[in-house]
Amino acid sequence: MSIPLVDLKAQYAGIRPDIDAAIQRVIESTAFIMGPEVSAFETAFAAYCGAKHAIGVSSGTAAIFLTLAGYGIGPGDEVITTPFTFFATGEAISQAGAHPVFVDIDPQTYNIDPARIAAAITPYTKAIMPVHLYGQPADMEPINAIAQAHGLKVIEDAAQAHGSRYQGRRAGSLADAACFSFYPSKNLGCYGDGGAVVTDDDDLAARVRLLRDHGRINKYEHSELGYGHRLDGLQAAILAAKLPYLDGWNAGRRQRAARYAELLADTPVVTPTHLAETEPVYHCYVVRVPEREATLNQMQAAGIGVGVHYPIPLHLQPAYRYLELERGSYPISELMAESVISLPMYAEMSDEQQDAVVAAIKAAL
Ligand SMILES: *Cc1c(COP(=O)(O)O)cnc(C)c1O
Repeated sequence: MSIPLVDLKAQYAGIRPDIDAAIQRVIESTAFIMGPEVSAFETAFAAYCGAKHAIGVSSGTAAIFLTLAGYGIGPGDEVITTPFTFFATGEAISQAGAHPVFVDIDPQTYNIDPARIAAAITPYTKAIMPVHLYGQPADMEPINAIAQAHGLKVIEDAAQAHGSRYQGRRAGSLADAACFSFYPSKNLGCYGDGGAVVTDDDDLAARVRLLRDHGRINKYEHSELGYGHRLDGLQAAILAAKLPYLDGWNAGRRQRAARYAELLADTPVVTPTHLAETEPVYHCYVVRVPEREATLNQMQAAGIGVGVHYPIPLHLQPAYRYLELERGSYPISELMAESVISLPMYAEMSDEQQDAVVAAIKAAL
């Protein structure tokens, strides 16, 4: 049995009439860039997150970049984040002209360790960007407290955490601003690139709206140099059609996660744990195994779609060599990068498929 890491075909099969109707509607309206579909999705997604504004943009990376640019964070500034994340977190900070300053993670949650943040703050620090890795919100209460004490912004990288909760509140409403990606395989994904900035901050929302569309204040007038980072109508219509299903899909993922934990209980496989105040959405189901490469190869050979999120922490990426951060700088991130495996995870997975994944990992230990 061949089992993919994610199965977007199975998802489409369950919602085909909604998606096809949404696409048809946009083609007939010809509102391909911005327009009513984008506004409608923005309103729905802001309400879903429990925030005042959602601004649709061209990707998750653009959402991070525009949030920083919108706050005026750039050259000479530092942004504290985790080295154990997708490359785009650091990349967007660098694109804005700021320096990423890394803080090691908590080995239980894989998220930035709040206890290590204060030591990384300098006179140049402007913001803290926790990443809700694998769909589990970072420990936001202590992070927000540190930020408040030092006058820093907190920006959630919520690209993996649509619908997750911390102390009952959803990702997107846990800090000054939040950045979402709608890359196809994310928990809420479109059929191309897309992203959103979510915030209660009226000024930031206005800045991001301006910057995403060439600094345009009306059809022909531009108040400043901006960017072409708009969300398109087809993607917005697809996202609006999918949004009502998101909670059900996330519940399905949590059920699969609970079943994985049960089936792997008496093995050397280390299954995920989460803070009592979080409700994760398992964007990835990540376990640790003693012999990662051997297990990975054997599972792949058995037809199981496994992945590694992420094998190289940001400070060891060739692109960040100039930061001169040696191996050993962030030992917990480095250790996790060497031992994590992502198992197939999607709401439509059957018990038979999941049993086959579990059999394959047990055989490969
Ligand atoms: C996917 C992702 C991004 C970037 O999103 P894109 O839409 O691919 O640009 C940023 N941060 C994290 C943690 C992600 O998983």
